[in-house]
Amino acid sequence: MALANENYLKTPEIYCFDEIEKRVNAYKLLHPDKKIIRLGVGDVTRALPNEVVKAMHGAIDEMAFQATFRGYSPPQGYDFLIEKILKDYRSMGITLDKESIFINDGAKSDIGNIGHVLGRDNIIAIAEPVYPVYENATIMSGRAGFQTEDGKWSNVVYLRCDQETGFIPELPQEKVDIIYLCNPNNPTGTSLNKIELKRFVDYAIEQDAIIVYDAAYQAYVTEDDVPKSIYEIKGAKKVAIEIRSFSKTAGFTGLRCGFSVFPPEITVHNMMGEGFPLIKLWSRRNANYTNGVSYVVQRGAEAVFSRKGKAEVRELVNYYLNNASLIRKELLSMGLKVYGGKSSPYVWFKTPDGEASWKFFQQLLYEFQIVGTPGVVFGNAGEGYMRFTGFSSREGTEMAMQRIRGNL
Ligand SMILES: *Cc1c(COP(=O)(O)O)cnc(C)c1O
Repeated sequence: MALANENYLKTPEIYCFDEIEKRVNAYKLLHPDKKIIRLGVGDVTRALPNEVVKAMHGAIDEMAFQATFRGYSPPQGYDFLIEKILKDYRSMGITLDKESIFINDGAKSDIGNIGHVLGRDNIIAIAEPVYPVYENATIMSGRAGFQTEDGKWSNVVYLRCDQETGFIPELPQEKVDIIYLCNPNNPTGTSLNKIELKRFVDYAIEQDAIIVYDAAYQAYVTEDDVPKSIYEIKGAKKVAIEIRSFSKTAGFTGLRCGFSVFPPEITVHNMMGEGFPLIKLWSRRNANYTNGVSYVVQRGAEAVFSRKGKAEVRELVNYYLNNASLIRKELLSMGLKVYGGKSSPYVWFKTPDGEASWKFFQQLLYEFQIVGTPGVVFGNAGEGYMRFTGFSSREGTEMAMQRIRGNL
């Protein structure tokens, strides 16, 4: 008899985003002639930068000839890409070891995989509301304990992050071992500034904790006091893994490529208190569980750092940022309480009259044919809020704003 990993039975079966699709499809069946505008998507929509396409065409041609064919990628990724990443960090005044960069097939993989190299008994802290993968990965790896009545997990420490804290996560009140931080944050669009992030780094140094820093929206940072990398903070190399992705930056959600930084200074301990560099465990995991990312895609990612590639990516990110800024302005002018939309494609706002998220979702859909994401799908702390994204087209975003103008 094959036994199940019962931790997998604990996560909710319906991924909450399926519920949105179900409701939208029901509406479409009833009103086939209405034009729906999607401001809920957490996926990019614009075509790939031309430089990326060109580089991948070139790479596939190389694969077609004996003399330039490539088999397995080096385990951590090709030097040509790693060198560009190191240079990008140097341009921010950050020097990293070449060995510390691990190319992966996107941020999500490593967010979950990191659990493989960390002890089962670590206490994990997660801000709420936040990207649901941190909590789900914690549950599936058997670290969450049991679910309590309010839907929270007994072994997870939830960092308060609400209207009172300006949707900036508070420091843990107790001792934790691992902290997931998403900065700029999805879904609230808010960001910790350098001073606020330094408090987390100082906490981690003091408590010997590790920060898993998800910088998937790094390219969207436009405010000077918001860090583009956690390594801008003194001491962070001792305690922080940084995860970045080409997905939301360069349209790679379908291609798949990202990277994680494991500075050799980060130390984990065995039960005897002996320390080991975390990077050693991670290299071992990598060597045994993955054969990396395709040559063609890595060449595409390399092109993101070329002069022309950078300009194209900037244009792409600005397109989404401008949409977000338009949404932000419009909602503010309606007198709503609005967060994000400055260093993030996400705009997070309080529903008018404090309506429940799903009720407001229905109202937006049936009265204005607009699809948003109910805040409550990111945890109970998101109840009473809604997320709009800048990932729609400019025309769609403008039309949606016209529909709700003066009507909410
Ligand atoms: C989209 C997203 C990711 C996933 O990135 P991939 O590289 O496509 O796996 C990771 N973290 C956050 C917060 C995201 O919103």
